[in-house]
Amino acid sequence: RKWVYLFTEGDASMRELLGGKGANLAEMTNIGLPVPQGFTITTEACTQYYEDGREINAEIMGQIEEHIKKMEEITGKKFGDHENPLLVSVRSGARASMPGMMDTILNLGLNEDVVRVIAEKSGNPRWAWDCYRRFIQMYSDVVMEVGKKYFEELIDKMKEKKGVKQDVELSAEDLHELAEQFKAEYKEKIGKDFPSDPKEQLFGAIKAVFRSWDNPRANVYRRDNDIPYSWGTAVNVQSMAFGNMGDDCGTGVAFTRDPATGNKGLFGEFLTNAQGEDVVAGVRTPMHINEMEQKFPEAFKQFTEVCSTLEKHYRDMQDMEFTVEHGKLYMLQTRNGKRTAQAALKIACDLVDEGMRTEEEAVAMIDPRNLDTLLHPQFDQKALKAATPLGKGLGASPGAACGKVVFSADDAEAWAARGEKVVLVRLETSPEDITGMKVAQGILTVRGGMTSHAAVVARGMGTCCVAGLGDIVMDEANKKFTLGGKTFHEGDCISIDGTTGNVYEGLIPTVDASIAGEFGRIMGWADKYRKLAVRTNADTPADAKKARELGAEGIGLCRTEHMFFDPERIFAFREMIVSDTKEEREEALEKILPFQQGDFEALYEALEGNPVTIRFLDPPLHEFVPQEEEEIEKLAKAKNKSVQEIKDIITSLHEFNPMMGHRGLRLAVTYPEIAVMQTKAVIRAAINVQKKHPDWKLEPEIMIPLTSEVKEFNVVKKVVVETADEEIKKAGVKLAYQVGTMIEIPRACLTADEIAKNADFFCFGTNDLTQMTFGFSRDDAGKFLNAYYDSKIFESDPFAKLDQVGVGKLMKMAIDLGKPVNPHLHVGICGEHGGDPSSVEFCHNIGLDYVSCSPFRVPVARLAAAQAEI
Ligand code: ADP
Ligand code: MG
Ligand code: MG
Repeated sequence: RKWVYLFTEGDASMRELLGGKGANLAEMTNIGLPVPQGFTITTEACTQYYEDGREINAEIMGQIEEHIKKMEEITGKKFGDHENPLLVSVRSGARASMPGMMDTILNLGLNEDVVRVIAEKSGNPRWAWDCYRRFIQMYSDVVMEVGKKYFEELIDKMKEKKGVKQDVELSAEDLHELAEQFKAEYKEKIGKDFPSDPKEQLFGAIKAVFRSWDNPRANVYRRDNDIPYSWGTAVNVQSMAFGNMGDDCGTGVAFTRDPATGNKGLFGEFLTNAQGEDVVAGVRTPMHINEMEQKFPEAFKQFTEVCSTLEKHYRDMQDMEFTVEHGKLYMLQTRNGKRTAQAALKIACDLVDEGMRTEEEAVAMIDPRNLDTLLHPQFDQKALKAATPLGKGLGASPGAACGKVVFSADDAEAWAARGEKVVLVRLETSPEDITGMKVAQGILTVRGGMTSHAAVVARGMGTCCVAGLGDIVMDEANKKFTLGGKTFHEGDCISIDGTTGNVYEGLIPTVDASIAGEFGRIMGWADKYRKLAVRTNADTPADAKKARELGAEGIGLCRTEHMFFDPERIFAFREMIVSDTKEEREEALEKILPFQQGDFEALYEALEGNPVTIRFLDPPLHEFVPQEEEEIEKLAKAKNKSVQEIKDIITSLHEFNPMMGHRGLRLAVTYPEIAVMQTKAVIRAAINVQKKHPDWKLEPEIMIPLTSEVKEFNVVKKVVVETADEEIKKAGVKLAYQVGTMIEIPRACLTADEIAKNADFFCFGTNDLTQMTFGFSRDDAGKFLNAYYDSKIFESDPFAKLDQVGVGKLMKMAIDLGKPVNPHLHVGICGEHGGDPSSVEFCHNIGLDYVSCSPFRVPVARLAAAQAEI
C-alpha cells in the first residue's frame, strides 16, 4: 500500500487520506502557489500505527525514508548535511481541522554541527541559534512531554539578565547560551542527551503526532465535534521557510473575510522576524495585515493575489498561514476558515450574491450546531448604552456574557458544576483550558489577538470572547485583577461584549435574539429545500409562541403533567391520588378540568391552527405527592383522613424502579377517569377555539404514552374515543381528532404493525426508547459514561446523539412495520434527539414525517433537515 504522498501527488479531494492540511498543501502546489515542498504520511498510516501496537511498521518506515530522499532531490538539500542541510517541519493534519489539538515541530534536522554550518553559511548566527533553541523547545515539549514552562522560565531569566523585554532583542550569543541551557534541562528531565541524529528526530516527531491523536484533549474535542476516533491524523513533513531571518522576514495568518462578522476584506496579523506560532501565541503584538503593504510591498501584493485565487478556487472564505523569507512569500496552509455563526450566515449569503454558490450550497455550508449561539441573548441595548465600559479589548467572538469572575479553567469547571455562571479571565488561554472554556459564559484574556488560541477556540464553541485587553493588571496568583480603576476578585460580577470588545462591571440585562436578516434568508432557503417537518416540544403558550417565531410548524409534544404542578391544581391532584373510590377521584379531577381546558385553549390559540399533539399523563404518581409535613396535614384534613393514613398511601406509592413502574398508559388503565378528564379538556378546548376561528382547521392529536402492547393501547383508546365522541355530540359540532401513541418501548417497535392498525400516529420518545433499549437509566448513566468514553466503548452520549445502530434500527423497524398497514399513519420523534443534527439526518433517511424539539433548537432542526435533503 502507498502510505506516503509527495505534495505533487495529492489534491484537495484526498482529504480523508491526506488530512485537511496535507490535501490543501497538495492542492495549492497543483495550482502553482509557492509552497515549500514535502510529503504527507496518510491517516491510514496512523490507524496502522495503532493497530501495530503504537509502532511504525517496516513498510511505512521504508516509504518515509524513500520520500526523504525524494525531498532531498527536490530541494537540493540533504538531511543532516554539513554543506547544505535540509530542515523540515513536522505537522499533524486530521481530516477535520482540530485547532490547537496537536502540536507542530519546526526546524527539525538541526544539531550541534548543523547549526554551526547554517550560522556560518548564512552569515546570520542569530537566526541559526534562534532556530536551534526553538527546535529543542518544541521537540522536548511535543515529543518528550517536558513541560513548556521550564523553557519559558529560562527565556524569561535570560531576558531579565540582559535587561530586554522581547525575544527578538536577544543576541546570537544569548540564544546559543539558551540552546545549551535547554539541552541541559532536557538531559535533566529525560536522563539522556538531546537526540542529534536527524532521522531519529524525524521518527520521534512522527510518532509523537500519531500519539497525539489519542491525547485526552483531542478526545474531548472530538466528542464535542462529532469527529470519529477511527479517522486518525496524517503527518506532513515539509521543508522550512524562515520568517525569523531578519527584518525583511516575518510570518502571518490571515482570513479572506472577517471571521467574526463575515465582512469582506483581508483580516489578519503579521509579525516581522518571527516564526511559527509567534503570531498567535502573543509573544509580541503583531501588526494588522494591511500594514504589511508598506514594509513588504512585493510580498503583500503577491499575497492578496493568492487570497483571491484561493477564495475563488475553494469558493469559500479561506484561513491562511504564510511566511515571508527575505521578501519572498511562502504559503504554509489554507483551509475554509472557522467563523462565528453570524459570519457564517453573512458569508454564505454573500457567496450566493457574488455568484460563487447556489442557495442549496449556502444552506449546506452552515453548521447547524452553531446556530445555537445566535439564539442566545444579546445585551439589552438601552442598558448597554447607559453602562460605561471599564475597558475595551478585541471583540473576538460575538455575544453577550455576564457572570462571576474566575481565574482558572479548573475553577470555571468547579463553579459551573455548582450552577454558577462564570466568566473565565486569563492572561491567555492554552489547550489545557478547553474544558473550563466550555463551561464559561464568556472568556476574557489580557494578551493575544484575533487569532489567539482563546479567540479561535471561543469562536469555534460559539462562546463570547473578548481578547487582548492589555489594560488589565493581572494578579493570577492572588486571584484578582484591576481594570479602569476597579479591582475584581474571584466571584465578582462582570459583563463582556464579544462584539464590541467592551467590558463592564456588574451584570447587564440581556434580551432574546430573533431570526432576521441573513439568518432569515438562510432559514427561508432551508425551508424551501427540506421535506421533514419541524415541530416543537412546548407545554406553555409562551414556549409555543417562541417556537412559532423560530419556525415550528406545530407542537409535537405537550407534556400535560407540567400543568398539574401549579399550586391551585396540585392540591386537587393530590386529593385525587389519595382518594379511595372512583367517585372521589372524579370529583377531584373535575376541579382540574377547567384549568387544563384553559391551558389547551391557550396552546391552540398560540399555534394558530397548526397541529398540536397532547400527551396524556406520563410520570408515576409518586412524583406528585407532598413531602412537607404541613402539606400532608392539609391534605389529610381535606380528605378526612389521619396524617398517618396519608403517609401510608405515599409510602405505598414508592416503587423500586419508577421509570419502569406504574406510569404512562398504565395509569390510564388503572384510573381511566384521568384519561376521561384529559380527553374532555382537549376536546372542549378545541371546540371553543375552533368556534372563535372558523378558518382554522383544528384536529387535536391525543398521544397515549408508553404503549408496549396493542391491547393496552386499545383499552385506553376506547376510553378516549367514547369520551371525545360524546363531547362532540353534545356540542353539536363536527371535529376530527386523532389518537396515537408514543413509541418508547422496544416491544412497541417489535409489534408496530399491530399497533399501527389501531393508532393514527407514532411518535418516537427516544429518551425512554434509548434507556429501555440499552437497559440503563438516563438519570444514572452519567456515573459511568465517562468510563465508557475512556474505554472507547462509546464516542458520544446516546441520550444526546441517537444510537443509529441499535435504537435507530428499532425505529426503522417500527416504521417499516407500521406504514404499510396504515397508509395514514404519520410518524415523528419528540426525544432530545429531535434537535440534534446527525439524528435529524437519520430521521429524514428512515422516513419520518417530522421531528419535534425544544423551541431554541427549532432552527437547528430546520437547517439539519434541509441539509439531509440536499
Ligand atoms: P496548527 O495546525 O496548530 O496551525 P501548523 O502545522 O499549521 O499547526 O504549524 C504551526 C505553525 O508553524 C504555523 O504558524 C505554521 O505556519 C508554521 N509552520 C509549519 N510548517 C512550517 C514550515 N515548513 N516553514 C515555516 N513555518 C512553518
Ligand atoms: Mg498549533
Ligand atoms: Mg496551522
